[in-house]
Amino acid sequence: MAVERTFSMIKPDATRRNLTGAITKMFEDAGFSVIASKRVWMSRREAEGFYAVHKERPFFGELVESMCSGPTIVQVLQGENAIARNREIMGATNPSDAAEGTIRKAFALSIGENSVHGSDAPETASQEIAYWFSETEIVG
Ligand code: GDP
Repeated sequence: MAVERTFSMIKPDATRRNLTGAITKMFEDAGFSVIASKRVWMSRREAEGFYAVHKERPFFGELVESMCSGPTIVQVLQGENAIARNREIMGATNPSDAAEGTIRKAFALSIGENSVHGSDAPETASQEIAYWFSETEIVG
């Protein structure tokens, strides 16, 4: 297995409930290193650009609205097999389907307010990291 980098977000529903530390601790306890982190309040243009792949989906407006509703923590996580393992630790998109012990099972409010985002493949991880971070902001 290879050491990988993945892109992670702690979404506004979670920052609003002061869950930044609790969620970051779950990543660190799982063996990830947080090698970049910042708090941003997304503009509509940034949220629409980030989620452009979903622009034809019926929930797109709601998704953009919720991502612009408060601060988000954007992070780069590094660890063994980080992309797939991060998805496991997050749990299913819909918290009612999420397994015990996952972040979404513990904290998500609904499919729309599901507390975290994580890249789903190596290509999207690279693109999403570059969307939010310059190379000098990533300190591995
Ligand atoms: P993820 O990779 O598990 O985050 O899931 P997707 O890539 O399929 O969807 C991206 C994000 O869009 C999800 O994390 C949700 O916040 C949101 N989303 C997906 N499906 C729905 C839905 O049916 N309703 C709403 N309101 N939001 C959704």
